[in-house]
Amino acid sequence: MAETIFDKIIDKSIPADIIYEDDQALAFKDINPQAPIHFLVIPKKQIATVNDINEDNEALVGHLYTVAAKLAAELGFATEGFRTVMNCNEFGGQTVYHIHLHVLAGKMMGWPPY
Ligand code: 5GP
Repeated sequence: MAETIFDKIIDKSIPADIIYEDDQALAFKDINPQAPIHFLVIPKKQIATVNDINEDNEALVGHLYTVAAKLAAELGFATEGFRTVMNCNEFGGQTVYHIHLHVLAGKMMGWPPY
């Protein structure tokens, strides 16, 4: 699978504002935030798109949501509410082909998202 910029963030060869790390996942602030709080939760193991999620990696993908929930509680926006988004391929708006859960918070979100 082709390397992405997120592999460099995982191996710390480029800097990022990392807010959480464990053996499976990393969370860091988005470089171009779309809300007062905007961070990404990514698996350390590359999964290119949502289309590549399957029975072999579903626990890892679930872990991304566990991390998001934990950080929402710790950072104090869980009750107020927030948005999680995982874009897929061109029409979904995906630009980095290493799945990432966007976590956006700190303002009222709109719907629909276009
Ligand atoms: P996508 O469009 O693929 O759903 O989201 C990719 C996200 O990654 C974008 O929100 C973009 O701002 C963020 N991003 C891209 N490159 C970097 C980077 O080098 N560092 C950080 N922190 N975020 C990045």
